[in-house]
Parts: sequence; C-alpha cells; structure tokens
Amino acid sequence: LGSKVADALRKMTRATVVDQTVMNEMLAEICKALLQADVNVAQVKALRESIKKNVDVEALASGLNKRKMLEQAVCNELCAMLDPGKEPYVPKKKQPNVIMFVGLQGCGKTTTCTKYAHLYKRKGFKCALVCADTFRAGAFDQLKQNATKAKIPFYGSYTETDPAQIAAEGVAKFKEEGYEVIIVDTSGRHMQEEALFEEMEQVAQLTSPDDIVFASAFKKKVAVGSCIITKLDGHAKGGGALSAVAATGAPITHIGTGEHIEDFEDFEVKSFVSRMLGKGNIKGLMEKMKQADVDLEKQAPEMMKRLQSGQWTLRDMREQFQAVLKMGPLGNIMSQFPGMAGLDFHDSGVRIKKWMTMMDSMTEAELDETKAMAPSRIIRIARGSGHYPHEVAELLEQFKLMQTTMQKTMKKSKKMGKAGGGM
Ligand code: GDP
Ligand code: MG
Repeated sequence: LGSKVADALRKMTRATVVDQTVMNEMLAEICKALLQADVNVAQVKALRESIKKNVDVEALASGLNKRKMLEQAVCNELCAMLDPGKEPYVPKKKQPNVIMFVGLQGCGKTTTCTKYAHLYKRKGFKCALVCADTFRAGAFDQLKQNATKAKIPFYGSYTETDPAQIAAEGVAKFKEEGYEVIIVDTSGRHMQEEALFEEMEQVAQLTSPDDIVFASAFKKKVAVGSCIITKLDGHAKGGGALSAVAATGAPITHIGTGEHIEDFEDFEVKSFVSRMLGKGNIKGLMEKMKQADVDLEKQAPEMMKRLQSGQWTLRDMREQFQAVLKMGPLGNIMSQFPGMAGLDFHDSGVRIKKWMTMMDSMTEAELDETKAMAPSRIIRIARGSGHYPHEVAELLEQFKLMQTTMQKTMKKSKKMGKAGGGM
C-alpha cells in the first residue's frame, strides 16, 4: 500500500499544474491502492468524499503550494482514519494488569505476546505469560520456548483442555505472586468461528482482563481495547491498520515489524502515515537507534557537534550507515530513511553496502566537502569503486535528501529547546 500511495503522490508531484483532473486522478489511484490493501469500501469512499469537499483546488490562492496542500489533505485524512478518538489502556505499576490477546491463527499473537512482555519487562514491570491456546498442538511449547528465551515466567498445561480454565489458573497464580503485566495468549483457530468467539468470551469472563489486545484482523466480538498491527515488515502495509481501527473502534498501540523480539515499536499516527506515504521517519529511526543502545553522543560526538551546527556531510552519512549496519537487520531501519521507503529488506541492504563501497573510494576531502561534486570526481569514484557514474550520482542524491531532512530535524529540535538530546 505504502509504495502505491507514494507513487500516486509522486505522479501528482510531477504534474506541473495540479487541477481538478489531476486531483481526481490522484484520488482514484489512492483509492485503488487502499482497496487493494483490504481497506473497506465505505472507508475509502469517506476519504475520497472528505478530500473532495475540503480541498477546492480551483479556489486555492495562486501563491499557495497546491501539491503540498493535497498531500497534506491525504495525510490528515489517513491520520483521522487511524484515530478512533479513544485512549488505549496503559498498564500501571504495582497492580496486576491482565492483558488478553485475541486474533486469528497465524496473525502473530504468540510472537506479539512475547514482544509485549519483553517491552514491559524493560520498562521495569514484572511480566508473565499464560498460554490459553489448547487448540493448536505445540502451542504451549512455542510459548514456552519464546518465554524461556526472553527469560519471562510462563504458565500452561499439556493435559488440561479447557482454555478458560488454564487462563483463570495462570492469571490467579501470577496475581498472587505479585506480577504486574499478566499476558494471556489465546487460540485463533476453530473450524467454526462461533466456537472461537465463545471461547474468547469464556476466557475473558474468567480472567476479567484490563485490556484486550487485538492482533491484526479479527472480528469484533469481545470488547477489544487496543490493536497491535503485526507483520508490517511484510507486503501488506498500512491497510491492515486502517481496517483494524475501523473494525474495532480501538486505537493502535504498537506495530510488529519482524519475527525478532525487538521488532516492536510504539505506534504513532503521524510517523506511521508519513512512512506509509514514503516520506521516511527520522524520529522512529532515532528511537530504534536508542533502543539498540547506539548512543550517537558517545559513539559519534564529532558528528553530533557538526549536526548541531547545521552541518551534515557525506562522512556523517557514512558514520550513520555504519552505525545502522552494526544494528543488524537493515530492512526495518533503512525503510525509515527518507527516500528509502518502499525498498524491501534485501534491496535496502544491497544498496547501502554499494554506497559504502563508493564512499570508501572518496578522498577525505570529498567526504567533508559541502559543495556539489564535480563530474570528473563522480567518474573517478565510480571507476574506483566499480560502479557506474549514475550510481554515484544516486548516492549523492540520497545524501542531499538525507542532509535536508537531518538539518530540518535538527532545527526543529533546537527550536523545541532540546538540540541533540531531543532527536
Ligand atoms: P499466532 O498463531 O497468532 O500465535 O501467530 P505466531 O505468533 O505463531 O506467528 C505466526 C508466524 O508469524 C511465525 O512464523 C512468526 O514468526 C511470524 N510473525 C509474527 N509476527 C511477525 C512480524 O511482525 N513480522 C514477521 N515477518 N513475521 C511475524
Ligand atoms: Mg499462537
């Protein structure tokens, strides 16, 4: 979805004059992309109507940037669709918080339960996992394995067949032992949906959860309080988030971006939409880097100093890429750089490594140069690194894009009075 919406916007950006026809074309493309991503028809229709009503292209004052306004309108509309206007439940310290997870088989519940427990453990909560999936053979083993790896206590049974019974026992046990975040993982598969819903209701009745978290697509039956969108690293992007909010009326709290326990991020509407629209997300990137204990102030004090003075050079980009390479799986992080959205895991990894080779072929002076690079140098770097000149030009273009964004981000955080640390 992300890249399709971005394509539609890009197409529009290329059109020199944005008039009613161009706008209609753009809207039609965006709507098609949303529909293909399984956003329901009524939602798509609402988005189109609202944009048509709110943006009167012909009437825009001539001085205004019309393209920007349309882009903003699409952004705002998507943000509004993702905000049900309700605050999600937030676990509180020094009390038991029972969190029940529901969602269809395979949507990533068990994985997400572990990520959630791991996240709250990090925040200083005493966490535990309860396996109330008696339907799938091996469900308990899977949870046990995940929990053991993450060093989180767990409860389950190989013999008891009543999921509500196990859930009640596990929750009672952990409550007694003073656990603060008690997570109940449930089953997602039944031959008949009704049976599954009934099971969910029973588990909910016996455990009185403080929050019911819905992982991706699941029909509303129990009163879902928050949503977590899983597998956002895969192909189905964005659309699942829109339909989850529409189906449950519950806010999204987190997103899952991979199979690993750390591939879990706080959900932030604006960042999400801007990433969806292919603009990149510097803030999320910085959070990721913080999480991975890559402390820029410590590891690259020189770079931070230059950044704060408004300078950002090829050398800085190389340092940043190096830091990112150290952090492991590239795909997730790279897609958050401006200009890199829409590239998959493999492509962005290949690309960044290519760029590193090119930068290795630059002289020290070239890495620090702030003026545009002469064509003769581009050709020399291309030869030296075994690439084509247009590939080096691409790197320089990426650099420009990142430089602009970095400088803007710095200016903003300076304005807010937290230069450097605020990034
Ligand atoms: P459940 O049946 O709902 O409990 O789903 P599982 O937690 O067993 O996950 C099913 C599969 O999806 C497993 O192979 C997980 O590793 C995988 N998975 C879960 N979350 C994510 C995610 O965010 N990204 C990716 N790529 N895979 C995920
Ligand atoms: Mg499971």
